[in-house]
Amino acid sequence: MTKSMPKTVNILGATGSIGASVLDLIGRYPDQYAVHILAAHSNIDALATLARQHHPVHVVLTGNHGYDQLKAQLADMDCHIHHGMDALLDLLAEDCDLTVNGISGVAGLLPSLKVLEHGGTCAIANKESLVAAGAIVMETCRKYGGTILPTDSEHNAIFQVWSHSHQQAINSITLTASGGPFLHASQHDLDHATADQALRHPNWDMGRKISIDSATMMNKGLEVIEACVLFDLPEDRVKVVIHPQSIIHGLVNYADGSMLAQLGPADMRVPLSYVLAWPDRLPWATDHIDLAAIGQFDFLAVDHDRFPAVKLSRQAWRAGGLAPAILNAANEVAVAAFLDHRIGFTDIVAAIDHALSYAPSASAIHLDDILAIDMETKTRIAAWLEERR
Ligand code: NDP
Ligand code: MG
Repeated sequence: MTKSMPKTVNILGATGSIGASVLDLIGRYPDQYAVHILAAHSNIDALATLARQHHPVHVVLTGNHGYDQLKAQLADMDCHIHHGMDALLDLLAEDCDLTVNGISGVAGLLPSLKVLEHGGTCAIANKESLVAAGAIVMETCRKYGGTILPTDSEHNAIFQVWSHSHQQAINSITLTASGGPFLHASQHDLDHATADQALRHPNWDMGRKISIDSATMMNKGLEVIEACVLFDLPEDRVKVVIHPQSIIHGLVNYADGSMLAQLGPADMRVPLSYVLAWPDRLPWATDHIDLAAIGQFDFLAVDHDRFPAVKLSRQAWRAGGLAPAILNAANEVAVAAFLDHRIGFTDIVAAIDHALSYAPSASAIHLDDILAIDMETKTRIAAWLEERR
């Protein structure tokens, strides 16, 4: 029997939480996967360590500082070392079986587009790009025959239980939300919440930005838009329910009353193993959830008074045009200010609400419009937040 060639994989955002999870899986199957591009932004030491472990063909540092240091650290390695986002975009034109986009923020948009423009397969964890420029990403995918694999856990769950042969019978989908660290917090507690408290997610171990998004529930707001984009549904057919155990990740609700769900531990390696092996499955999991030990599943409605982010996101999606890009940009800049202790927790959603009041009406949207409004909103909201201090 001839041995099959390993699947080649680009890892974007290698030094982050998604990067760590996917590289953990790849490390378990060295005969089945070979890293082609390993890319990160600023964490030179971590990138160099990962390059030594995974032997990529290319290592890319997209941030402005530390390139010489990275080159020195990898001087004895047989790999090409590159610097800057343009270099990464050029390399993404090379053939590769799968690109996993684990970059945080709208910075992940151009890399996804580049992969899809070359008819490649992109596992998109980077939800911000789908929120800001969903129509452009999906159109690029269709036009050039690319493939998008939904990777965010809820969307991956729905992807797993979505029946193409019964598509007409799908009424709606349901995304679950853990409720985050402030599920039972009072409004007073929310007004005084610190970054340390907000970063302490009860179930998931994730990067800093998405952890804050989970605390405000903006993460679920972004995910409602992400679901509308990926599954081509109107927002009123994308439901949200709080499920504090984070075992059920997503459900598809069929017209005959059946709801099909995907269950799994709160571990991103489950959806990441699915996209790595798709359309097969990787037999990596040794521990399976013990339903009797969990005992019960709880479900609660979202409290929109304490957590207005989901409603704001629905409003932005319905407004269309540049509104979702504005929502995302305002959130990115406000989360960074909160993590930097410059604003309070509830100022994040106040900033998004304020930003949306500026949304210009536009019908045909081009990539340049998205990139321009992203920068403009970030500058304007940063100034607005500074004035309010
Ligand atoms: P992290 O903050 O842990 O990692 C982000 C990664 O992106 C790092 O490798 C970072 O590089 C890189 N990066 C940051 N800024 C840029 C930039 N401007 N250009 C290129 N690369 C950049 O984030 P997560 O892994 O938590 O999340 C990544 C994405 O996946 C987000 O969109 C998030 O919403 C989504 N996601 C994450 C989940 C999770 O469990 N973590 C679950 C579902 C979705 P460096 O560190 O070197 O600066
Ligand atoms: Mg998610």
